Amino acid sequence: MPQILVILGRQGSGKGTQAALLAERYGVVHVSTGDMLRAAVAAGTELGLQAKAVMDAGNLVGDDIMIGIVGERLAAADIGARGVLLDGFPRTTAQAAALAEIAGGAGPDLAINLDVPIAEVTERMLARGRDDDTAGAIARRLELYEAETAPLLAWFEDRGCLSTVDGLGTEEEVFARLAEVVDGL
Ligand code: ADP
Repeated sequence: MPQILVILGRQGSGKGTQAALLAERYGVVHVSTGDMLRAAVAAGTELGLQAKAVMDAGNLVGDDIMIGIVGERLAAADIGARGVLLDGFPRTTAQAAALAEIAGGAGPDLAINLDVPIAEVTERMLARGRDDDTAGAIARRLELYEAETAPLLAWFEDRGCLSTVDGLGTEEEVFARLAEVVDGL
């Protein structure tokens, strides 16, 4: 069973940036479902064509599709050898249950909640200006985060693998806090 780490946090929390830094420091494979979907959009694949409209509206791509994509990626040899840091998955309880099944019934080894308040992430996303960073799509994504993803925090807590890290401060300060948590594993 490969080592499985998960990073959760509101959109705009800096989770993608920090996940890349953590993957580099610890040698695990960084799997960002948002990056995978954006690559599919850029390549114009069937999946990309389906996902684009959903993403631009700030909605979630269907669980079956996401579980299929991630399940396939987790079966690859590099992850078996190095372990994985999942960024953007799971985002719903159905995805968390599927991950637990892949992991042989257990939760991940560690789930980090990168905590940044709503007002701060909204400001950051408006400044970033990605295709799906329109005011309407941002509001929709944050609403879905509270409704679909925030409940996973309790799910991870129950499995004893949740660690919450303050995401306010400089990139270096936040990274130092995260590294401390991973070092404690
Ligand atoms: P953000 O965290 O700012 O939403 P991401 O890059 O993680 O950015 O995701 C961008 C979009 O990709 C999401 O709004 C959603 O439409 C889709 N997406 C990514 N991961 C998932 C997932 N696990 N389940 C459903 N949709 C997803």
